[in-house]
Amino acid sequence: MIELDGSTGEGGGQILRSALTLAMITGRPFRIRNIRARRAKPGLMRQHLVAVQAASRICGAEVKGAAVGSQELEFVPDKVQGGDYRFAIGTAGSCTLVLQTVLPALLTAERPSTLRLSGGTHNPMAPPVQFLQRAYCRAMAEMGARIDVRLERFGFYPAGGGEVVASVSPCAQLRPHEWMERGERRAAYAECFIAAIPGRVAQRELECVGKAMNWGEDQLLNRSLPAEQGPGNALMLTFDYAHTTEVFTAFGEKSVSAENVARQVVQRARQYLSSNAAVAEYLGDQLMLPLALAGGGGFTVDEVSMHARTNAGVIELFLPVRFGFGRRDGVDCCTVAPR
Ligand code: ATP
Repeated sequence: MIELDGSTGEGGGQILRSALTLAMITGRPFRIRNIRARRAKPGLMRQHLVAVQAASRICGAEVKGAAVGSQELEFVPDKVQGGDYRFAIGTAGSCTLVLQTVLPALLTAERPSTLRLSGGTHNPMAPPVQFLQRAYCRAMAEMGARIDVRLERFGFYPAGGGEVVASVSPCAQLRPHEWMERGERRAAYAECFIAAIPGRVAQRELECVGKAMNWGEDQLLNRSLPAEQGPGNALMLTFDYAHTTEVFTAFGEKSVSAENVARQVVQRARQYLSSNAAVAEYLGDQLMLPLALAGGGGFTVDEVSMHARTNAGVIELFLPVRFGFGRRDGVDCCTVAPR
């Protein structure tokens, strides 16, 4: 039984999510104490509980401690079974984080799977669905995984109510891959997703991005959504390169001006653009586990966060790999190799 302390490093939900994924894949049971001990509301929130339930359904696990607020959990996996699954988060908790918990495990199943999730699709502090589609799934495809993610309905924080469907084809072994350079830029554009919020907010956000990035009208896209999918507003910048795609998102909030929302996302994108790294912090976080499963690879990244270092520690408990964080040509770099 692998023992985990959920207060280690960043002390957030990723420790649990990575442990669930890796237990499903390796068949190794784990026990975790102090779940999300460093978060304002420690223990399992609804979103983490659904991740536990989804993981246990998919691999027929025996679970102890699966309840909202629980700070201890025991998870004894059985075999991963492909098939059609449906999970409802029931709040605006992130569908994408639940999806990412089980996707790598479903790749190891003997048959294809579809997953339908309802809940939040555009939440602060989780990958928006377009990030999964454009950045994560593209990177997974480079490693040989065929994952298709479809957004059927937006679910903004705090109301939720979104729907996402993912189709996963089996991939017995991911291929190692390196993302050291971005390659040539093929496209760059901004999108303002907006539902049940006055249209001038979208105009102001896009205008502000246009000025800051020196982008023309054709790069500023107003994606108005049906009012019943709101209220909600996400401002998203996508950069498509020969080797990688990056997506940066800021969310509109009641007390934050449209200009400030635009400034946030522009600032984050500029940090990436000026770094010359192949990927930005969040995509880097999300590539660590698949690369470890592939048995090797790496990426240059604009920021190595505590989240990444904590995640490395969890992955190394389950898999015979070692992560290294260093510098390559003046840029931060993360590599993983067999131990
Ligand atoms: P919690 O304890 O509440 O579950 P956590 O510690 O697990 O939170 P965070 O560090 O907040 O999680 O990050 C969750 C994941 O979401 C990370 O993998 C991060 O890369 C990803 N993420 C967060 N925001 C974005 C974003 N805007 N775009 C893409 N990915 C994001």
